[in-house]
Amino acid sequence: MNVKLAAQVLSHSVAAALNLYVAAQRIESNGIDTARFLKKMDTLFDTVNSRTLKHQKKELCAVTQNSCHVEIWKDMISWIKTWSIRSSKGKTIVAPCKNGWILTLNAFIGISQDLLMKNKFILTNRFNQDVLENTFSSIRRRGGLRDNPDTYEFRHTIHKVIIANFLKQSVGKNCQDDGAYTLIDFSTFNKREIFEILNSEDCAEECVQDSVSENVISCEEECVQGDVDLNSVSENVISYIAGYFAKKYLSSDACIECQKLIVGEDKVLDNHTVFLDFKEYDDCKSGLKWPAKDLFQYFVNLHKCFMSNFNLFYEKECIRKKFEAVLLKVNVDFYDSHITHKEKAQVFFISSFISMMIKHKVKMMNKELKPNFSYKKMKYF
Ligand SMILES: [Zn+2]
Repeated sequence: MNVKLAAQVLSHSVAAALNLYVAAQRIESNGIDTARFLKKMDTLFDTVNSRTLKHQKKELCAVTQNSCHVEIWKDMISWIKTWSIRSSKGKTIVAPCKNGWILTLNAFIGISQDLLMKNKFILTNRFNQDVLENTFSSIRRRGGLRDNPDTYEFRHTIHKVIIANFLKQSVGKNCQDDGAYTLIDFSTFNKREIFEILNSEDCAEECVQDSVSENVISCEEECVQGDVDLNSVSENVISYIAGYFAKKYLSSDACIECQKLIVGEDKVLDNHTVFLDFKEYDDCKSGLKWPAKDLFQYFVNLHKCFMSNFNLFYEKECIRKKFEAVLLKVNVDFYDSHITHKEKAQVFFISSFISMMIKHKVKMMNKELKPNFSYKKMKYF
């Protein structure tokens, strides 16, 4: 089972998206119940996955004498006890996960009381076996399938892994990166190894970019190709993207004038900010930026312009330059009061937007081109 994917589904973002779909009347209103379940599961996962002493989500902070964890775990245990799990045929079944959760949470309550007598804080993610799994995944990916190595093979492989490719995890691994880092990069001893590392994908870096492009997918699914009319779901996604890029822009240049122009002063709940509102955590001001009205409108126009030109451009060369030329014509009058940074901001937003959209479009087109049968199922005569 791929735990990483399960954690992505049972997340705050999916809950926010479900809430949005219910609000937009795209799905039935009882979707709210699923959203509530996901939100609770997200909190639960967070409490047993704290990695740092301080974090903007209180559940992800380390467990201390005054932290919320024990309280939450107690609530969760009584909630989990009420679960009734059914098989695909509708029969009530005893699922090991239910007892597993209760056991885990009770253990955490006990162990945290014990450990906090001697220690100031506890990081709960250090209790899981991701570290072990990641180590073995590095060994597995050396030299093909090694499900049953003998002791000599294993010793040889682990030496090789430690020296040449110090705990670089397999791309198809099941669990999250355990956040451990290496003090010395042994890979520099071997050119072939460096090449291998450079070629291997790094999931962690792509993470943020992906979370944005995943959201565009839903926007895309709503638009028939060539049809540039926006609906409320797409508007919400664009508003989220505009906020995301505003945050990125301000992190490189914290100009107050720019901030006034691109970030909304008050967070006004509007037709296009429902998703942002759901996405925002209730109890902490997350890093989420709400775009100013003008910036939102600007991104709507960029999107419109991009979509209407995509079919013309995508088979041609220098597609990026072509888009840049076209998108530069989109009106940026709202920056006229701050002419010093007008061009800089415009170039940043256009270039980020193009990168994201091209990546997303290629991903979608690849999906369409992928044959919808599995080679494994083919029979050879
Ligand atoms: Zn500025």
